[in-house]
Amino acid sequence: MRSRPHRTRFGAPALQESEGAKTDSEREIDCEGEHAGSNAQAGTAEAAPRRLARKGNHVTRRAEIVGGGIAGLSAATALARAGWQVRVHEQATELREIGSGIELLENGLRALDALGVPIGSLKVSEQILSFAIWDERNRPITSSTMSESSRCFMTTRSALHNALLQAATAAGAEIATGSRVTGATADGHVYLANGGPVKADIVVGADGIGSRIRTAMGFSSVSRDLRYVSKRTLIPLTADDPRGSFPGYWYRSRRIGVGPCGPGLLYVFLYCRPDDQRGCAIPLDRESWTASFPHLGHVFSRIDDENVDVRRVWEVICRPWTRGRVALIGDAAHAMAPHLGQAACMAMESAVVLAEIIDQPADVENALRAWEARRRPFVDPARRYGHVYNSFMMGWPARHPALRSTLVHIAYRSRAVRKRIEGAPALAPQGPLTHPVKPPQSDDGHDSDGRKQHRGEDNAQAPG
Ligand SMILES: Cc1cc2nc3c(=O)[nH]c(=O)nc-3n(C[C@H](O)[C@H](O)[C@H](O)COP(=O)(O)OP(=O)(O)OC[C@H]3O[C@@H](n4cnc5c(N)ncnc54)[C@H](O)[C@@H]3O)c2cc1C
Repeated sequence: MRSRPHRTRFGAPALQESEGAKTDSEREIDCEGEHAGSNAQAGTAEAAPRRLARKGNHVTRRAEIVGGGIAGLSAATALARAGWQVRVHEQATELREIGSGIELLENGLRALDALGVPIGSLKVSEQILSFAIWDERNRPITSSTMSESSRCFMTTRSALHNALLQAATAAGAEIATGSRVTGATADGHVYLANGGPVKADIVVGADGIGSRIRTAMGFSSVSRDLRYVSKRTLIPLTADDPRGSFPGYWYRSRRIGVGPCGPGLLYVFLYCRPDDQRGCAIPLDRESWTASFPHLGHVFSRIDDENVDVRRVWEVICRPWTRGRVALIGDAAHAMAPHLGQAACMAMESAVVLAEIIDQPADVENALRAWEARRRPFVDPARRYGHVYNSFMMGWPARHPALRSTLVHIAYRSRAVRKRIEGAPALAPQGPLTHPVKPPQSDDGHDSDGRKQHRGEDNAQAPG
């Protein structure tokens, strides 16, 4: 994937507005502008903040985003489309996702729509019309049918990530790869390993479970090892594989799911406890997994051990998610057990809501607090339900499998639980996400409604 350095332009700003109209990041830009010619490095993270973020009487606010994963790119897209000048710092030299599938529920799909990335625009995807879980006695624990207002799609992580990257750059966001952030401060300074500091009106910490922003700024948080190992991969789809459905199977503390991601691809995940040595082994212990799930031998035989993502799964509980001008989003704020298929969906949704809320008031700090207050009632329950689900999965005594099935079956009959587990409509804000995320700017600087866009002159650079 690409990240093209962007050529920046330097020079003294043609100041037309009063000092009072400036944002903090612009005041800093003014100071740096005096030296701009001497150490300007086109295309580097250090050089970019010198860009002028205003045009005419209008001020464009600047967002520095740390992390180019699903959360960071969603935030970049949403903010850039709302008229912000955005830069994403990604420590890796290349932007990419692991080779596995991802399940997107209604709230995530609506967020994608709001970001201008409808699910149909992804290179691969498949609508999932039904779910079912079978236990170790080969009895169904639960099943459900999706509806038009509670949809589910499977896609690949790379298809989703690519689409978000394209949307972010098309909206004008700059992607700085090889740009590791070492910290940030509540007043909006971002510290870069290879330069800086730079100043922004908001800083979005989308730097994942081990968030540097979270730890460096001393956010109050707990990271919990959920005590299981996930193995995920994509394999070629065959005629024996499910289409339009996503069956899951439990065998004691082992769990497996197989879901089609679109033409030719089947997503397979295998979860087990860390003390299940044969379950954790790579190369995959086919004999052991086939003993647990005899009908899936044809799946195990197709797995390429070289292409399996193996990791221990953690959750992050963090409160608050914002401090001053800094907001944490995605796994940095709320990594959760993935059993509900909600963490990335929540991150995308939070990004859309962030752009909506931050667009309105002048007071960024209050706006960030309002954003957190609006998102917590959706995100926190998803994390808690994921945690409980995980305890049933990984912590259940092996000698009582039937009791577990019965309890889960009963739980699924509760409307409240189903809403959470099936995720989407209950967790999404009411109504479609028709946030005022502005359409990308046209070549002549007008949006599709013919309104003049208020962007910095240098922000008109070609997307990467
Ligand atoms: C097994 C499993 C299955 C899952 N299945 C689903 C699912 O089906 N549906 C769903 O919605 N969610 C699912 N999730 C959750 C989802 O994958 C995550 O919530 C999502 O990928 C997190 O994205 P993120 O951008 O917050 O973090 P990340 O993907 O971790 O991205 C963080 C980025 O920040 C960069 N970075 C880190 N530190 C720095 C730094 N100091 N400077 C610059 N850059 C930095 C990293 O290199 C990385 O690119 C699953 C998770 C797991 C573990």
